[in-house]
Amino acid sequence: MKKALVIGIALVFGFAIFMVGTPTTAQAKTTFVTIGTGGITGVYYPTGGAIAKMVNKKRKEYGIRATVESTGGSVFNVNAIMSGDLDFGVVQSDRQFQAINGSPNSEWAGKPQKDLRAVFSIHPESITLVAAVDANIKSITDLKGKRVNIGNPGSGQRQNSIDALTAVGIDYKKDMQAEGIKAAESAGLLQDGRIDAFFYTVGHPNGSIKEATAGKRKVLFASITGIDKLLAKYPYYAKAVIPITFYPNAVNKEDVQTFGVKATFVTSAKVPDNMVYAITKEVFENFESFKKLHPAYKVLTKKGMLEGLSAPIHPGAMKYYKEAGLK
Ligand code: GLU
Repeated sequence: MKKALVIGIALVFGFAIFMVGTPTTAQAKTTFVTIGTGGITGVYYPTGGAIAKMVNKKRKEYGIRATVESTGGSVFNVNAIMSGDLDFGVVQSDRQFQAINGSPNSEWAGKPQKDLRAVFSIHPESITLVAAVDANIKSITDLKGKRVNIGNPGSGQRQNSIDALTAVGIDYKKDMQAEGIKAAESAGLLQDGRIDAFFYTVGHPNGSIKEATAGKRKVLFASITGIDKLLAKYPYYAKAVIPITFYPNAVNKEDVQTFGVKATFVTSAKVPDNMVYAITKEVFENFESFKKLHPAYKVLTKKGMLEGLSAPIHPGAMKYYKEAGLK
């Protein structure tokens, strides 16, 4: 009796799942995918928008409708992709490395995110330290005793700020007043005199930094040097320069020395191959027009977009790379 009931329920459920999973011709066969980005004045947000636009153009062919979500940044994106709340996301290359390896100095210490998958890498990002001229900050070493936004906990930049500060002997908990606010708010806080400086790991040029340099309070980029040991220790960090031509309102006359990472596009092993294939194909087949969508993409090459990845490449992306002779 009990057994018959269980079988009965299983049949009803099975049928229901069959009905849901099999759209009739009257239903639109569209699958919605969500791409996690960052603050709307950063580069991740328009990047997600550019990718979504390319795949949405082929909605009839792929049956995919991509939407973009503004989020707290890299760490948030990795975690939301792993929990299934997001399908794709833009994530710093150092964060990708830490998440897949469960690196000790990260949010994923001892907890490797085994299902994280790489799709491609995008623009370079540099650890950018923006400071008010009246706060007498010219270099990262001048941050002692200052009020500094090091980044919200979901952001990519927070650990970069901490790494750089630690490398120059500054304890962010004791030696300064560290704030954990979203990057989108930094420019306003700096102009209002509520912080002396902020860190932002971001591609250049971008709206947030332009906004910070465009106000009444004079602003400069502080250099981040004396970090050779840090660069030697972590494979994902490399020296970088911020071209000052992008920010004519900043006080600096010369390009700014710092270090950097790369923005990367990631997903989960659980996301179906055909979706990842479609997105990868559209971005690569329309590479020249993609490059024109943001000035930070100027340096991109197809080959370069397969570098800086540490998680395994998703099989859907790999299928395209093999077809295109890129792998
Ligand atoms: N790199 C930042 C982060 O991971 C986001 C930068 C952007 O939005 O362009 O949080």
